[in-house]
Amino acid sequence: MEQNTKAQIAITGGIGSGKSTIAKMVQIMGHPVFYADIEAKKIIDSDPETKSQLISLFGKDIYDTNGKLNRQELAKIIFNNNNAKEKVNAIVHPAVWDKFCEWSKGFKCSAVFMESAILHECGWADRFDKIICVTANLETRIKRTMERDNCSREQVVARIKNQLSDEEKISKSHYVIYTNDNCSELEQLLKTLEKIL
Ligand code: ATP
Repeated sequence: MEQNTKAQIAITGGIGSGKSTIAKMVQIMGHPVFYADIEAKKIIDSDPETKSQLISLFGKDIYDTNGKLNRQELAKIIFNNNNAKEKVNAIVHPAVWDKFCEWSKGFKCSAVFMESAILHECGWADRFDKIICVTANLETRIKRTMERDNCSREQVVARIKNQLSDEEKISKSHYVIYTNDNCSELEQLLKTLEKIL
């Protein structure tokens, strides 16, 4: 059987840390990047196996007439049922991981990257050769996210509280890239990749 000898590198970080921006830089440099959050949404909307598992747990109303996830309906179910989120994750996370493994087989290169906000929450950290944590100070992250998503400070803070703190993410990572306004993230990224690749 052909062995997958590519290094698997994760890019993680909290909301508004700039991880998608760093991941895009990595991609522009020519490296394959798998965006886990985007892929999870595609799987939930389009993968027949995942859809049928979700429907059998939560009913057909979680999909709209176009077959796309009714996010409000699912959010309502999760709000009223403590275990529902875990059940969704138990269906979706393995499907995302399988897709990542399948996707990575398609590249002849020394390393593939995954961008994921919830790498640690998914229990995937040990599967990666190296983990890069992208971070910025809390105020910067809040301001950026409010501007990008046009939402309130309270909404951003609530989302941040729902995730593992950046301090914890940093302690579980091999490399850290700071994206505060006075930082040169490109230089940090190049130095990090030089060490890894
Ligand atoms: P999320 O998890 O919420 O998707 P993220 O960590 O992927 O967030 P990005 O989407 O990369 O963060 O960045 C959040 C916002 O901050 C975007 O509008 C982006 O353009 C901006 N941004 C990212 N990095 C920088 C930077 N170094 N300087 C200024 N703005 C930045």
